Amino acid sequence: MSAYWEGAAIVGNPSSVHVFGRRSRAALERARRVIARAVGGPSAGTILTSGATEANGLALAQAGGGPILTSAIEHPSVLDARDALRLGCNGDGLVDPDDLAVAMERYHPALVSVMLANNEIGTVQPMEALAAIVHEYDALLHVDAVQALGRMDVDMSGLGADMLSISAHKIGGPKGVGALVVRDGLDIAPNMRGGGQEQRRRSGTEHVAGAMGFAAALDAIDSRERERIRQLRDALENALAGEAVIVARQAPRIPNTSAIAMPGVTSAIQVMSLDLDGVAVSSGSACSSGKVSRSHVLEAMGVDEAIISSTIRVSLGWDTSDRDIECFIEAWRRVRNRCGSGG
Ligand code: PLP
Repeated sequence: MSAYWEGAAIVGNPSSVHVFGRRSRAALERARRVIARAVGGPSAGTILTSGATEANGLALAQAGGGPILTSAIEHPSVLDARDALRLGCNGDGLVDPDDLAVAMERYHPALVSVMLANNEIGTVQPMEALAAIVHEYDALLHVDAVQALGRMDVDMSGLGADMLSISAHKIGGPKGVGALVVRDGLDIAPNMRGGGQEQRRRSGTEHVAGAMGFAAALDAIDSRERERIRQLRDALENALAGEAVIVARQAPRIPNTSAIAMPGVTSAIQVMSLDLDGVAVSSGSACSSGKVSRSHVLEAMGVDEAIISSTIRVSLGWDTSDRDIECFIEAWRRVRNRCGSGG
């Protein structure tokens, strides 16, 4: 990545025909192949974007003027992008395929958008079952796979996705680069017009260094680490089980995410107190201003108000160690003892 960020290779615009441009183009196409392969999609269908927010917006635009159906626990880039009907979910954050079938019959949406793994609670949707229903009604299925990438196998044709969004920074790659991967044979109408890059589907000079960084991050993923991370996450949850409420604990989940409530202590207080203790966690839903907003995910799951206001999101990384988990548990208990009703 750094060669294309600050090295000699940076000069070439991949759309230029001279030698520097051709070098950049070759690098970009190499990165595109790696990105496509990571989700079992076609290189030609891999549209590089500024991130998953843009990829999600481009995907939703493919509904044309037609109705969109989505779930109530999507990322705001889907929820707020367009008017859409929203499917509810159960107490584990799972969309019921029967509910989807009823909604398809009633509303005949042009496009359905459901995320594979949720960013706040980690729940993984029964995507193959949902896809079969969407396709029965000849609608397009878009899958936001941002949180799933690297943490579980993602194969877009196995999932039945027509379009799939991913983002580099969720797997340790650079911020500000992502992709919408589109299955063969599906034409994409652009959202942004201009130079006609990305086969006229996304104008704007490509972020070559970003794409190289995305590919490098994908290459660095060691899927054998997932089990170690899962064991650490489970150990953390087992340790706190008697003292905390663990949200969606029994649901199928990606291995690195845990939503943990400390009843009686607001998530904002927990996030700040843990930060002072050197532990970086998020509240259920942090918006761009850094303010903590109410979690629409927990709300849609029908979680009690007391739990909604006291849940934090704990994410484990590839380098999280046993010692980190012990430190977290100690810090969490210090906050509880200091700020909880007993403290
Ligand atoms: N979708 C999900 C599930 C996410 O978690 C995020 C980022 O937090 C996004 C989309 C947006 O991705 P980006 O930050 O690349 O625009």
